[in-house]
Amino acid sequence: MRSLEQVLKEGIRDIPDYPQAGVMFKDITPLLADHEGFSIVVQALAAAGRDADGKVVVDKVVGIEARGFILAAPVALALGAGFVPVRKKGKLPAATYEESYALEYGEATIEVHQDAFEPGDRVLVIDDVLATGGTVEACLRLVRRCGAEVAGTTVLLELSFLPGRKRLEGEQLSALVTV
Ligand code: AMP
Repeated sequence: MRSLEQVLKEGIRDIPDYPQAGVMFKDITPLLADHEGFSIVVQALAAAGRDADGKVVVDKVVGIEARGFILAAPVALALGAGFVPVRKKGKLPAATYEESYALEYGEATIEVHQDAFEPGDRVLVIDDVLATGGTVEACLRLVRRCGAEVAGTTVLLELSFLPGRKRLEGEQLSALVTV
């Protein structure tokens, strides 16, 4: 079996100037198409939901639309936890809470169903890439507004030249790879 480092190296490719000039987009679709690679990554992400003895310490796993869904759903199944989608505004059918955050140009809003968690649920938040940290930060606010407890956040890839980690200071944050 290949190592985590190897499958990440083989499975994430750089697409320059997407979706706009100057952005180096980290494309994870080759990794998703690699069964062994995807399995290794799901197990590695799921480790963020376990304690040092391997005991599961989360009740729900949140995936942030859209690539966060692809990673968080199998992690939830691997942990025996529930899956909760955090979606862009206007996509969830029942009553929601919403949080907005600044983008380079303009603003984005994400939502979660108000009844997505039981009070005190311990929650692991998952996304593919941590860039400025605005998306994860807004997501953590949503989880807390629902009365749930953030147990941690884990991402596939962290862009260390952006201020994501600084912005999330004081939060439990891990990344499988940092570039
Ligand atoms: P941010 O809120 O700036 O941390 O941006 C995080 C969100 O934007 C994540 O949901 C990522 O999927 C996406 N994202 C930001 N930068 C990149 C990038 N360079 N490559 C791929 N996805 C990115």
